This record gives sequence, C-alpha cells and structure tokens, in this order.
Amino acid sequence: MELPTACTLCPRACGADRAAGQTGYCGAGDTLLAARAALHHWEEPCLAGDPETGPGSGTVFFSHCALRCGYCQNWPISQGGVGRPVSTERLAEIFLGLQEKGAKNLDLVTATQWLPWVLPALDAARARGLALPVVYNTGGYETVGTVQRLAPYVDVWLTDWKYADPALAERLSAAADYPAVCEAALRQMLIQTGAPVYDADGFLQKGVLVRVLVLPGHADDAVAVLERLAALRRQTGVPLLLSLMRQFTPFYRAAELGLGRRVTSYEYRKAVDAAVRLGLCDGYTQEKSSAREEYTPPFDFEGL
Ligand code: SF4
Repeated sequence: MELPTACTLCPRACGADRAAGQTGYCGAGDTLLAARAALHHWEEPCLAGDPETGPGSGTVFFSHCALRCGYCQNWPISQGGVGRPVSTERLAEIFLGLQEKGAKNLDLVTATQWLPWVLPALDAARARGLALPVVYNTGGYETVGTVQRLAPYVDVWLTDWKYADPALAERLSAAADYPAVCEAALRQMLIQTGAPVYDADGFLQKGVLVRVLVLPGHADDAVAVLERLAALRRQTGVPLLLSLMRQFTPFYRAAELGLGRRVTSYEYRKAVDAAVRLGLCDGYTQEKSSAREEYTPPFDFEGL
C-alpha cells in the first residue's frame, strides 16, 4: 500500500499529501508513530481474559487519530503528539514479540491513519509465523472502503458506536457525519466478518464487538445508538457482541464540553434496560467501580 498523495484513508478525506510529508487532520504524516506495545489486560474478557490473571491482548497504541474527541481518554497520543517513530520492519518484529509474550490476539488501537505501514508489517509478520487473531480497535469512524480493504487482515472488529445524534457528534468530535458513517462501516464489518467464533478457552477468534460508552447527560443518545444497533443486527442477520460501558472518566477537555462528571447509576441503568429490551444481551456490562483511570496505560514507549 503506497503512502497516499491525497489521503482518503478515513472519512475526513482531508487529502493530505502524506508522501510529501504533509500532515493530515488526524496529525499523521510520513513517519509512523506509536506510544506503546505491550500485554494489555483491560480489553473485554473474551479478548484479554481475567484482568488479574488472564493472558492479555498484545496491544499496540498508535499515535494520532482522525476523530479527535474532546474527551478522549488516550488524548496524549491521539492529540497530544506523544509518539515514537517505528519502521514497518520493526512493527513486524513488535507483532511477533507480542505473540511470543503470550498475547491471545494482536490488538491494533487506532491504526487507520497508518495502514500503509501496518498492512505490510502484518504481511511480513505472518510470513514469519504470526498466527494470532487480529483485533482492529477503532472509534468506528471508518470508510466502507477501508473496512473492505481490511477484510483479509482483520479477524475481530472492536468498534465504538459513539453517537446517534449528528449534533452531538459535531459538538464532541467535530464529525456530524459520524452516525451515518459508523452505521455504514459497521454494516460492512458484520457482513464481511460474520457471527462470533470462540476458541476452546472462550477467546474470541472472529466477530464484531461493539462498544457503546454511556456519556454523562447523554443516556438518551446511548439508547438511540442501541436502537440502531438492534435494527442493524436484524437487517444483516449477523449476531454481534455488545460492550455497554460506564467507565467514562472526565479526561482532556471533557469539563468544558459539559462532560465534567461520571455517569450516574440511573443513566447507566437506562441504557442497560434498553439493551435488554432490544435483545442485545450477548456481551458485557460494567460495574460502577469501572470508572477508573487505569484503563489508560502509561504511554511510555514500552515495547517499541
Ligand atoms: S487518515 Fe488522516 S491524513 Fe488521511 S484522510 Fe484521514 S485525517 Fe486525513
């Protein structure tokens, strides 16, 4: 995959001449940057196992992001410029190293802006014995074309569906098209990936896991997302897993965006009740104690 001269890797389609060193809306230019590659124990149990005793996912946190949400828990790397250059060859070695450390899968966090490096690195690592399922961990703001391009590479889509309301998507992520874009991408993920498949130990090998994060003051929007998710499942006929999250912690510019508190039990219960009513019962909910800062690991360049 060539470095784009007019980038359209993500729905921003900002047209940056990445090959000439121009940086795009996402902040990515002509050198891949990443912030951490290590075993990560905080993904859902079907990916990482038990947080205390499980094997963990082999998680690579890439720098920059096309969505740039104002409340991002990974804001130092998504928008703060933290990252270290990594070559394609080194990335392939990192992938293989995570497999050797016992990871249950390779978990690529926000990789789309770096696909011209990531895809050849996956090819090279596979040629040298990488056999782990590849988990594509995304904010859900993907083009259908990019999802299709990833079909030979991605086994598990771990995708957010952040908003149903275009005005909310515009206010928090400057992306009024997010609801429509996310829905189209998710439809493609479901069609090309199919129903969840597990190994003998219950680890997910294939499928789509959708994360819906309940935001303070916006439980009704989470319910609207769940309604659209249930409709999509009906239309495609493809089962999916839901991870209904209450771990929101006010990071970055959250307070100035009106998100300066955690989610109440009442708000979260409203979303859980909707998921049950809609038959979205396969997956995960979170305890109140999940609203902690440990979900964000140190971006200290470990494993790079
Ligand atoms: S990935 Fe980055 S550079 Fe490419 S279109 Fe999206 S925002 Fe622009």
